[in-house]
Amino acid sequence: MGGKSEVPLIVKGKRLDGRKADELRPIKIVAGTLNRADGSCYLEWGKNKILAAVYGPRELHPKHMQDNTQAVLRCRYNMAPFSVSERKRPGPDRRSVEISKVIREALERVVFLNYFPTSGIDVFMEVLQADAGTRCAALTAASVALADAGIPMKDMVAGCAAGKADDTIILDLNQEEDNFGQGDMPMGYIPSRDEIVLLQLDGEFTKDELEKAKTYAMDGCRKVYELQKEALKKKYAISKV
Ligand code: ADP
Repeated sequence: MGGKSEVPLIVKGKRLDGRKADELRPIKIVAGTLNRADGSCYLEWGKNKILAAVYGPRELHPKHMQDNTQAVLRCRYNMAPFSVSERKRPGPDRRSVEISKVIREALERVVFLNYFPTSGIDVFMEVLQADAGTRCAALTAASVALADAGIPMKDMVAGCAAGKADDTIILDLNQEEDNFGQGDMPMGYIPSRDEIVLLQLDGEFTKDELEKAKTYAMDGCRKVYELQKEALKKKYAISKV
């Protein structure tokens, strides 16, 4: 990433997968897919496939981690060894520790942790198939799983990345664009509060490009947010006889 793309990624105004610059990949969100979890979500986003499971609020162990003033939110992002074309070495690595941390920090901004002192809320995100944009997809799935668990929140966080390829700002990078593009900017955003809770940047952007990427990512998050709400409504809608 960075510099000029070595492979043409935009041909005649279209991206290699046929999308326009500001187009999302197809997204499918299902709330409540795991019986044992208190809340869960299965999400497909392009070729990404992710499961999120929430447990809690429940008594936190080990006890020395307990906080008398609020719940402790623990997030674990994990990529399955079979989720990428080359086998990924199982277990945590620097990347998964970083992603778990930025997702936790984003979710801490919305969950009313002070309602549940001394308890723990665990959020597991398992990437079954990865094709770039997994931190945004995992954050999106985790938000739905938290809402599905009935955990009080200010609102859900939606995730979406924007980036740059062939000197063009694009929405929602796929693997080729992530590998051969010029920049990636994942975002976590709460549309109802107009609040950015996750923002990372890789690559080089001019000030104008940065503004455009920000607008693209926020618009993408708004669309994702609508799909998150739809998924919850689908599970909890009371059918009228
Ligand atoms: P994100 O998935 O949030 O875009 P990255 O930019 O770090 O995060 O990774 C981009 C993509 O690169 C991932 O979605 C995944 O498809 C791929 N990838 C990440 N880590 C590995 C790995 N260890 N082996 C193979 N592919 C990987």
